[in-house]
Amino acid sequence: MVVLSTGEDAIERLTSFARDRQLHASHFTAIGAFSGAIVGYFDWEKKDYRKIPITEQVEVLSLVGDVTAGDKGPKVHAHVVLGKSDGTACGGHLLSGNVRPTLEIVLTETPAYLRRRFDPESGLALIDPTA
Ligand code: ZN
Repeated sequence: MVVLSTGEDAIERLTSFARDRQLHASHFTAIGAFSGAIVGYFDWEKKDYRKIPITEQVEVLSLVGDVTAGDKGPKVHAHVVLGKSDGTACGGHLLSGNVRPTLEIVLTETPAYLRRRFDPESGLALIDPTA
């Protein structure tokens, strides 16, 4: 269990936690709230993430992700569904999330070793199950 508090960035803290613990293959879920976030939508034509800023207090309704081994250390990949004050939801690939007041993360490490490899078709580093 990793509990983050106000002002911490979810992706930065998860990445530093994964590096400190030398995680190679893990998955996590989390709930809590952000004062703001940046989510990404992968633009297939441009082969890049379109950044979507969320500039209000939102509930983290569901955050799911994994940790894999990368060339520069552990790589955190997370997707999020956020709830706005009017009850509508938005979300995407989580690029940053500014925690306020808490983010409760349950992380499970597995004995597997998962490595990402560059995929030329998408331009992304995808999990290579044969690695
Ligand atoms: Zn993603």
